Amino acid sequence: MQTKAALFHAVGRPLELVELDLDEPRADEVVVRMAAAGICGTDLHQVKGEFRRPTPMVLGHEGAGTVEFVGDAVTRVRPGDEVVVSWAPSCGHCPGCRRGRPATCRVLNAAIPHGTLPDGRTGMSYRGKTVYRGTATGCFAERVVLSERAVLPVSGVPLIEAALLGCAALTGVGAALYAGRVEDGASVLVIGAGGVGQFVVQGARIAGAHTIVVCDPFDERSEQALLVGATHAADPESLDAVLGEAAPEGVDFAFDAVGSPATVATALAHTRDGGQTVVVGLPAAGERYEIDPFELIRKEKRLTGTLYGSLDPAVALPDFLSLVDAGRLELRRLIGDRYPLEQIDDAIAASLAGSAGRVLVTFG
Ligand SMILES: [Zn+2]
Ligand SMILES: [Zn+2]
Repeated sequence: MQTKAALFHAVGRPLELVELDLDEPRADEVVVRMAAAGICGTDLHQVKGEFRRPTPMVLGHEGAGTVEFVGDAVTRVRPGDEVVVSWAPSCGHCPGCRRGRPATCRVLNAAIPHGTLPDGRTGMSYRGKTVYRGTATGCFAERVVLSERAVLPVSGVPLIEAALLGCAALTGVGAALYAGRVEDGASVLVIGAGGVGQFVVQGARIAGAHTIVVCDPFDERSEQALLVGATHAADPESLDAVLGEAAPEGVDFAFDAVGSPATVATALAHTRDGGQTVVVGLPAAGERYEIDPFELIRKEKRLTGTLYGSLDPAVALPDFLSLVDAGRLELRRLIGDRYPLEQIDDAIAASLAGSAGRVLVTFG
């Protein structure tokens, strides 16, 4: 079986559109025909050379599509089912899996930096050479072969919107509801209003936060955040002044959806004494935070991180779909420009340029 896919080779080089060879699906695998795939910060880290993972690689780990074929042992989906791709096809047995946190699976997290599936294969090749998987998935392809554990049935939402659920929505809303556990009436700061940040804002709104300050250097992103629940917007230069009005003692919860040492420091500095700072964004490989211990001890601030919303995607997705159905979780408004796979370099450029809304690659 073959599929058209975009190969990432090296920093600064255009992605290459090729016809990949796909291994025949195994008994527990399915073939998904992709409808849409979002460009996430993790993909951009790779494109910018901030992560060193093997190449050539098919990037993309946030998407939705239709099941085309299922292996003999597959029980969770059938051909024709619409599904969201989860990038946490975990082992099911390790300590992370046992506590209901498949994204922290040891086997998965050993595989991702090596560009493979949890079992060490990639199942994809080009001219006889191995092609690697971005974040154990590889969605920038017309067809993707995945474990049935990596596809979650979805209904009632157009696939182009459902794609956002695969990473940004679960990560961002989960950060607010499951990791931070934002309380009713709380004050919240969200640094970074890209795809994930927009969903942290929404998670804070859903939790009942009264004050939600968003900070982003791109005005269009801040304006979009104001439409989905932020009460105040700032850019890095105006943040001190805006927070001086909105939360003069510091915020109860500060989320850093960027993940750089500088933005983590900013989030911690603006957290009130006894409040919580949650790191959502991933830093470039090798980066370290510099933290004044007195922030944690004398001021009793809590600093924590969250991966994939600190939830189990298979368990949480139905709740998210209910929120969408009830009009409490906005997906459509967060969709940015769409590009066909043939224009994926333009899509990546638009995302790097700070597009308001998630940039999507769409298929067929
Ligand atoms: Zn992602
Ligand atoms: Zn595991």
